[in-house]
Amino acid sequence: MLDRRTFLMGTSALAANLVGMRERAFAADLDVVVIGAGAAGISAARELKAVGRQVVILEARKRIGGRAFTDASLGPAFDAGAMYIHWAERNPWVKIAADLGIATPTEPWGGGFQLFANGKPMAETDRMRRRSVFGQIDRRLETVDITTRDLSVAELLGDLGPDMAPIASSGLLLSIGEESGRISARDYQRLWSGDDLIVPSGYGNLVSRHGEGLDIRLDEPVSAIRWDGPGVEITTRSGTLKARACIVTVPVGVLKAGSIRFTPELPARTRDALGGLVMGALTKIAFRVEGDRFGITPGASYLEAGAPEEMMNFDLYPDGKDIIIGYFGGDYARKLSLAGAQEAQAHTIDLLAAMIGEDFRKTVKAATFPAWWTDPYSHGSYSVCLPGQESARDKLAEPIGGRIWLAGEATAGGGAMTVGGATLAGRAAAAAVARIKV
Ligand SMILES: Cc1cc2nc3c(=O)[nH]c(=O)nc-3n(C[C@H](O)[C@H](O)[C@H](O)COP(=O)(O)OP(=O)(O)OC[C@H]3O[C@@H](n4cnc5c(N)ncnc54)[C@H](O)[C@@H]3O)c2cc1C
Repeated sequence: MLDRRTFLMGTSALAANLVGMRERAFAADLDVVVIGAGAAGISAARELKAVGRQVVILEARKRIGGRAFTDASLGPAFDAGAMYIHWAERNPWVKIAADLGIATPTEPWGGGFQLFANGKPMAETDRMRRRSVFGQIDRRLETVDITTRDLSVAELLGDLGPDMAPIASSGLLLSIGEESGRISARDYQRLWSGDDLIVPSGYGNLVSRHGEGLDIRLDEPVSAIRWDGPGVEITTRSGTLKARACIVTVPVGVLKAGSIRFTPELPARTRDALGGLVMGALTKIAFRVEGDRFGITPGASYLEAGAPEEMMNFDLYPDGKDIIIGYFGGDYARKLSLAGAQEAQAHTIDLLAAMIGEDFRKTVKAATFPAWWTDPYSHGSYSVCLPGQESARDKLAEPIGGRIWLAGEATAGGGAMTVGGATLAGRAAAAAVARIKV
């Protein structure tokens, strides 16, 4: 990986490219530029390098991995983004990890699970109500006809009534990170499922390991892509690179925010596809804790579910580590992200103190709040397809002008929203780019 200075020194004719670009005949600096060093970008670049293409990755952050990030800032590390290798039966990361000698066991579910309502153990009647609607989404997907018209998941559950429907869909806030009214039932049905594995040494660390040996320029946010000539011209604050083609793996949230200016603008079909996708807001907050553990079994899960729209799940002392991790999603997560780290931390400590006891506060030594919703390089957790827009992912994956490919979790079809899907999408784009003559 190179830093910004090395980018300037290492790229031939970079300064010259800034002037008189339109007048000169097209002479590419590189075969392919990949934008974004997350799972999709790393996987695409590896494929291209393997077939002998000159490829550089431009990454906005000062680190690689994107939304797969193992955060060690508290001491005990945790995955601030992706944690599970979903649908392990066909997920490429099982083999990648095995080849690197990295263990990927199933999650040990030994710590137990407790439900709370406003800090108190949930009453038996409320627990029964919750249990009665458990699994209703899958049941309705089997019985309700969505072949003629797509529905939102909220519509799918509508006949449960205003009291029970929000409870039935509340789990989506922690899986999809989005409100059920904004989730296409057809897209949801298309998502792959299977076994989940974990990476005890960190999924983010694993993705970073996979990026070793690639030419990655960090701290290089791409601000513009010109594609009106024979190839592409990609601008960062260090200058402009010319390439035959580029693979853009930035999250949908970044594309929708207009952080990268395309000239000419993206085709109407691609813009339509972007209009059909939003970013969910699955979010984590973590605390380093020391001292009393209040008799709680390491690895226990506590779910505060007094208000279904403001649920927060906690992993307490996972693997015996001095850490507590909270998970939440949807508009609640957006609200806390916008409120800022201090307010989010204070609110979450209040929730934990209500469940565990006031003395819990004394054990909190540090906190970190990776708020993906307000992160300028993601603008959310992962892409969610709006009701009626279930073709958006496939449209987004269509090549643009034979030289730009958008790839990432959002274009991964049934693998969307995952690291595995991003990887397959990155590889597919690379295979298409590799067919271009150089
Ligand atoms: C809280 C949370 C939990 C999750 N849990 C799981 C899970 O358990 N399992 C799972 O499989 N998935 C999970 N995911 C989703 C998973 O992390 C993503 O689907 C996957 O990492 C996306 O990879 P990607 O390469 O498509 O995008 P990214 O990883 O986002 O990579 C895109 C890269 O582009 C960079 N970038 C952005 N803008 C620019 C720019 N202008 N110029 C240059 N670079 C730019 C970004 O910094 C980033 O590095 C989770 C995500 C979150 C947020």
